[in-house]
Amino acid sequence: MDTDRLAKAILGDANSRETAPKDQPKSAADHWTPAVLLERAAYLRKMAAQGNGSAGEMLKEYPQHSAILSFRSRNGEAEIHDRFADFFIILAGGTTLITGGTVVGAKTIAPGETRGDSIEGGTRQELKVGDVAHVPAGTPHQMLVSSEKTMTCLVIKVQEAV
Ligand SMILES: [Zn+2]
Repeated sequence: MDTDRLAKAILGDANSRETAPKDQPKSAADHWTPAVLLERAAYLRKMAAQGNGSAGEMLKEYPQHSAILSFRSRNGEAEIHDRFADFFIILAGGTTLITGGTVVGAKTIAPGETRGDSIEGGTRQELKVGDVAHVPAGTPHQMLVSSEKTMTCLVIKVQEAV
């Protein structure tokens, strides 16, 4: 599965530049400081303001997982990923995460990828800065962001099943 394309599908205006420093020894871990992530998020905020209220950037793609920076100033779509789990690490702002329930207006946008307008039922949890949440593959989920708020998070997408 092309996770870059997947991220673009999920995040709308994603671009796919890899941002890990290139001038480091091969043995160095990929490393992003909070300052770098929030600076990039400020750029995503500008992109989001010119677009549909959300923007994302693929930080790095690995064989079975990827790290994506995501900014939202409005509700996300309802999503189901048949083969990918999502880890959300909230870096700024906050969101109401809905998980479970039934996707309303569900449509398949790519193999194993379902999107919809909203979720009926499900469980709501408030995520704040520093919180970490895990959504298993196959579980409906949606991020709600009320109009005066924003949410910046790191998304770790993990391939769960082939
Ligand atoms: Zn997702």
